[in-house]
Amino acid sequence: MGSWVRCKCDQLVHKNLFCGTGISLLATEEFLDENHLGKSADDLISDLVRRSELLLTCWNCGRKILVKEAKDAFEIRFFKPELEG
Ligand SMILES: [Zn+2]
Repeated sequence: MGSWVRCKCDQLVHKNLFCGTGISLLATEEFLDENHLGKSADDLISDLVRRSELLLTCWNCGRKILVKEAKDAFEIRFFKPELEG
């Protein structure tokens, strides 16, 4: 996989962090509960990025796209907002 995910609406959504694309990281409780004392801010963020799922937003249809990437796994799930009213 490259740096893009194709949304269900056919829009390509960037999944490369640090490109100003509005990506969120989902930090796990496990990660937050760990003792990170002594780690530099840079190391902490690297760990966080490596161990968190990414939450992307498709600007075209508003879907949330959850990306789970690990050494041996690659999983993408789509969540479509409920319509108002
Ligand atoms: Zn979309």
